[in-house]
Amino acid sequence: MPIYEAPTRDMQFVLHDLLKVAEADIPGYEELDRETTAAILEEAGKLSENVLAPLNTVGDEQGCTLENGVVRTPEGFRDAYEQMRAGGWMGLDADPEYGGQGMPYLIGSAVGEMFVSANMAFNMYQGLTHGAYSAIHTHGSDAQKRTYLPKMVDGIWSGTMNLTEPHCGTDLGLIRTKAEPQDDGTWRITGQKIWISAGEHDLSENIIHLVLAKAPGGGEGTRGISLFIVPKFMVNEDGSLGARNAVSCGGLEKKMGIHGNATCVMNYDGATGYLVGELHKGMRAMFTMMNEARIGVGLQGYAQGVVAYQNALAFARDRLQGRDVTGPANPEGPADPIIVHPDVRRNLLHQKSFVEGARAFTFWGAQMIDRAHRNQDAEAEAMISLLTPVIKGFLTDKGFETTVLAQQTLGGSGFTREWGLEQFVRDARITMIYEGTNGIQSLDLVGRKLGQNGGKTIMAFFEMVKGFAKEHAGQDEAFDRDFLDPLKQASKDLQAAGMFFMQQGMKNPQAALSGSYDFMHLFGHVCLGLMWAKMGLAARAALAEGRGDAEFLEAKLATGRYYMARQLPATAMHLKRIESGAEPVMTLDAASF
Ligand SMILES: Cc1cc2nc3c(=O)[nH]c(=O)nc-3n(C[C@H](O)[C@H](O)[C@H](O)COP(=O)(O)OP(=O)(O)OC[C@H]3O[C@@H](n4cnc5c(N)ncnc54)[C@H](O)[C@@H]3O)c2cc1C
Repeated sequence: MPIYEAPTRDMQFVLHDLLKVAEADIPGYEELDRETTAAILEEAGKLSENVLAPLNTVGDEQGCTLENGVVRTPEGFRDAYEQMRAGGWMGLDADPEYGGQGMPYLIGSAVGEMFVSANMAFNMYQGLTHGAYSAIHTHGSDAQKRTYLPKMVDGIWSGTMNLTEPHCGTDLGLIRTKAEPQDDGTWRITGQKIWISAGEHDLSENIIHLVLAKAPGGGEGTRGISLFIVPKFMVNEDGSLGARNAVSCGGLEKKMGIHGNATCVMNYDGATGYLVGELHKGMRAMFTMMNEARIGVGLQGYAQGVVAYQNALAFARDRLQGRDVTGPANPEGPADPIIVHPDVRRNLLHQKSFVEGARAFTFWGAQMIDRAHRNQDAEAEAMISLLTPVIKGFLTDKGFETTVLAQQTLGGSGFTREWGLEQFVRDARITMIYEGTNGIQSLDLVGRKLGQNGGKTIMAFFEMVKGFAKEHAGQDEAFDRDFLDPLKQASKDLQAAGMFFMQQGMKNPQAALSGSYDFMHLFGHVCLGLMWAKMGLAARAALAEGRGDAEFLEAKLATGRYYMARQLPATAMHLKRIESGAEPVMTLDAASF
């Protein structure tokens, strides 16, 4: 049985030592003192460890079933869902006007990491609801907000997002689902959507589908797309449930992982829909949901890495094989625990330095979202928009890689089912694909985000890294050597890559697009390098002041040094690949592959 232990202490370190949340000038953050965040994290941790994690294997083995149009979730999911509702977890960061607790997005992310590590498939039911909530909250009419949001925040109703159709996933301009206006102001929605997560299930009383469809007069491509609310059950004036709408689940996908989450074919047979936001501006509204969802998927990626690493570590401490080359570490036993071997340590440190860096990066991004929304800060909004494809693409690629490395730590026990590692690998794999494949994230980064605001945001990022390194250089030779110098070098690589795109972008777009994936990874490494340098500083300061657990803080420094020495140099390789341009990628004729 796999283990899961909520990483409360690590999270507290990021929140208070790194981000110094209680001092941040963001409305609502003043309440986030150490005691308050500890209480929230501990409660979420208990739910994750005791309720959600034990259901992870059950969900994987039983999966969901469809019978006569009704989808049943695995045993125990309903009860766990009720416990989530009763604890108010679903509305943790939702607007109090609609029954939410109004906590910062950052706290929602910290709690979300635990829920995802414990049981990703289960947490998707409420994750999708949150995305749908956000789209209605931002773009819906007052009446729509009053009708749908309180029940979605409570969790008694859930939500979905319906973009994908059998012939299109990435290129949404091709969608065929159509919306026809009706005399009473509603719309008639007809078409088929596929791979809809949580499209049908038995956890909530109603399901509020958000559906992209084409309404007449919108023109070709994505310009013609509008967004509609299509409830599973119609909602009466008084809020009670009415007749069943003409939307149904036509099938469940058999798939590699996340078996506990229902992935549905959804048929809309003249269903009643309600327009959200402006006609023909559906992509804009959907982007609200997608941007939030992309950060959520980045979080899923590293959160699977977190739990995989925990299990790899437990195994490595326990499994006896071979002897330490420097002499027996366990002379009484027949062999030493495998954690003594340099190659096993390398593997574990690769995992540890990634997941802890990724957590810091994601929480930093979540704080930016709070700053953008709560302080109406346009610069924070622009920065998180730039970083969103990096969070999604880099953290899910590396998160998946982490689950594979963790599986490797266990040898054959990683491949067989008992230890659960193979499930983490299978579950993590989808994060690289949905919410826009990682290839598409890299195109978004290079094609749109790099040039946003005339390149001002990326320049601001470079300045921030440079300013940070300059401010802290020259105070401690070892810190300069181990943290700041590698960060400066990696940041130079990123700037050189940015320069390459600026020079090549217009005249040779294939050169830019051939290097976009490497750029996303190069950028991700610089972000994690920055996080580790900042965490190194925070750990050093706490040690100097005699605050906190010295062993924990020394471990932070050692893990950071590992990242800087063994992971960050990847930036040089990515730069080299980028600078090789389009030629190596584009020369081969399609027929010669
Ligand atoms: C388990 C699961 C759950 C899902 N949940 C949902 C959901 O809840 N709601 C929903 O709407 N959808 C959902 N999806 C769909 C998912 O978002 C899509 O599968 C994904 O966006 C990719 O689209 P596609 O599969 O059609 O791939 P395609 O668009 O066919 O792409 C195939 C490949 O070509 C690449 N490619 C395509 N176009 C370009 C281009 N212009 N330049 C470079 N490369 C390109 C892609 O990167 C990809 O590698 C889910 C899918 C799965 C498997």
